[in-house]
Amino acid sequence: MNSIKENYLRIKETIPSDVKLVAVSKFNPADSIRQVYDCGQRIFGESKVQELTEKYNLLPQDIEWHFIGHLQTNKVKYITPFISLIHSVDSAKLFNEINKAAEKDNRVIDVLIQIHVAQENTKYGFSPEEALSFIKRVLNEDYSFIKIRGIMGMATFTYDEDIVRSEFRILKSLFDEMKNSYFTENKDFDTLSFGMSDDYKIAIEEGSNMVRIGSSIFGERMYI
Ligand SMILES: *Cc1c(COP(=O)(O)O)cnc(C)c1O
Repeated sequence: MNSIKENYLRIKETIPSDVKLVAVSKFNPADSIRQVYDCGQRIFGESKVQELTEKYNLLPQDIEWHFIGHLQTNKVKYITPFISLIHSVDSAKLFNEINKAAEKDNRVIDVLIQIHVAQENTKYGFSPEEALSFIKRVLNEDYSFIKIRGIMGMATFTYDEDIVRSEFRILKSLFDEMKNSYFTENKDFDTLSFGMSDDYKIAIEEGSNMVRIGSSIFGERMYI
């Protein structure tokens, strides 16, 4: 019996084919990731730079690594050579830094703008209004090494489904507003990253097309 594989296959079955699954492997060892990889999963999410670079070196090269945690500007350069998507652009300074590092690596890096909609003040991100004006500004400037693919957000940590649902609705309507205002001609602005283990089904109902699932696949994390 292999519970990680079983968990993965059970979750995978519940996700529509037009929704991407990011298997969030933070705090889990490379051989757990390998088990999920062997089931066919290729997108994995990590939230710490050092942990990610170690795993990147140990695991197959066709994995698409996504960065989902708060990214410190001084660590950007360690992931720009290989990262597929950075979900967590939460400041203008970080955006700038990614563009600079990507230019050195001669890569165009896909990013999502992180939006703060939860009630907790511990979560990072732009407010919806800030995000709109930020995008308006950077699209008029020269950031040739970044491609904005969409937005990412997290709902409040609560059992109250109405709160979670209403926050996901804010994300979806913000995405639509951005799309209609700034990306009408741009097919690459297509990603809504919201929904985690406890709320991904609600997220998909509310328009998410990328869910980030960790503990329901790998088990409860052991924080060390
Ligand atoms: C840890 C984490 C997840 C996964 O959370 P689970 O509840 O374990 O599914 C998703 N997104 C972000 C940003 C995270 O940090």
